[in-house]
Amino acid sequence: MSISLRPFLKAGRTIGHALLGQDCLLCQAASREKLLCEACARELPFTALACPRCAAPGAATAECGACIADPPHFDASRAAFVYTFPVDALVQSLKYGGQLALAGLFAQEWYRRCGGARGPDLIVPLPLHPARLAERGFNQAAEIAKVLSRLSGIAMDARLARRVRNTAAQTALPWRERATNVRGAFACNSDLGGLNIAVVDDVMTTGATLDEFARTLKKNGAARVENWVIARTTRDV
Ligand SMILES: [Zn+2]
Ligand SMILES: [Zn+2]
Repeated sequence: MSISLRPFLKAGRTIGHALLGQDCLLCQAASREKLLCEACARELPFTALACPRCAAPGAATAECGACIADPPHFDASRAAFVYTFPVDALVQSLKYGGQLALAGLFAQEWYRRCGGARGPDLIVPLPLHPARLAERGFNQAAEIAKVLSRLSGIAMDARLARRVRNTAAQTALPWRERATNVRGAFACNSDLGGLNIAVVDDVMTTGATLDEFARTLKKNGAARVENWVIARTTRDV
């Protein structure tokens, strides 16, 4: 468990209250029917400047050095937040604490900050391996994607592709091993000829998993793949 999550989990009783629509999940101020009060929602960590291709926070809006040196298979990435406190604690509460209402909050915040413009043809959540799905009971990416589909009016297809290898958790591996770890992790039997696809995930770290997924979609004919992620880590995480 991350250090930053500890104080958050201590407020377990308060989390229950917040889900009944009484208190802000983070500061316990009255937030009416919302999960976060307006002040906390406003202060969630966000970066206006990021690489348009991999969403890494940076000083410019041009593609970052890593994307220029070794272009990923995806074409663009948009992240609503930087993966730091309290966003990291909220994401972990969704994934491991089963606070599914947070999926709706994340989708709404993503759409408010990053939505609009020309939309893709299809929204696809990053697939979870069936074993991981059975263990957790839900795919957090699919829960977020459902709400994004409703907000944007773009169809979602959660069965387009499957995760066929239950890879070791990426966070347990050194960066340079992460790409090898996810190679061949996905399978797709659909013809995606010419489609523009938005892939939804909760957290983007090195982007190795999303890169492998984009490679799979493009092998099946996708014309363009962009990542819609809730939070992006900074390079030094
Ligand atoms: Zn608050
Ligand atoms: Zn980049």
